[in-house]
Amino acid sequence: MDLEKLEKNVKARGFEFFHAATAEEAVEHVLEQVQNTSVGIGGSTTVDQLGLYDRLKENNEVHWHWKDGPKPEVYRDAAEAEVYLSGVNGIAETGELVNIDGKGNRVAALSYAAGKRIYLLAGKNKVCPDLASAIERARNVAAPKNLLRFPGKRPCTDAQRCFDCRSADRGCCIMQILMFKPMQSNKVELILIDEELGY
Ligand code: SF4
Repeated sequence: MDLEKLEKNVKARGFEFFHAATAEEAVEHVLEQVQNTSVGIGGSTTVDQLGLYDRLKENNEVHWHWKDGPKPEVYRDAAEAEVYLSGVNGIAETGELVNIDGKGNRVAALSYAAGKRIYLLAGKNKVCPDLASAIERARNVAAPKNLLRFPGKRPCTDAQRCFDCRSADRGCCIMQILMFKPMQSNKVELILIDEELGY
């Protein structure tokens, strides 16, 4: 990983960048910046591993369907929150950020971010040399691993690579590439953690 190149390219695309040496440093950084506000969280194993839901709840109103239940009002409140947290499936050293989503709640919140602050948390395992390899990673590494959490029949379950299936249980319906900070968002910050986290 070329950290210097990644930081330069991420910043050139209007994103902010924070490099955390450890998971705890990343958590402390988020807790310092997110206080007394509303927070929505998209499906993210990384955010879960960091324990941010419980930590943020100490000083914020937090909405996450993984903890509060997959109810329409939870998705709505998460989407309308002032701060939104998500992981990233693939990070290109050229600065683009790739996510794959099933329902679209996560990528919708990251796309229309007017008036919001967004924090994207990712381990170093998400970093790839360029956009093509970041997409490849999102499709063939992150998606098959993530889908092991759900019941259903998919060709990627055993092979752990994507077949662009037509399964009724397909979990990959939308791929988003953040090429630049969305217009009118207050900030989009990539927090890169020097540990292996998430898928
Ligand atoms: S598109 Fe289908 S095969 Fe590919 S990762 Fe998603 S569910 Fe698996």
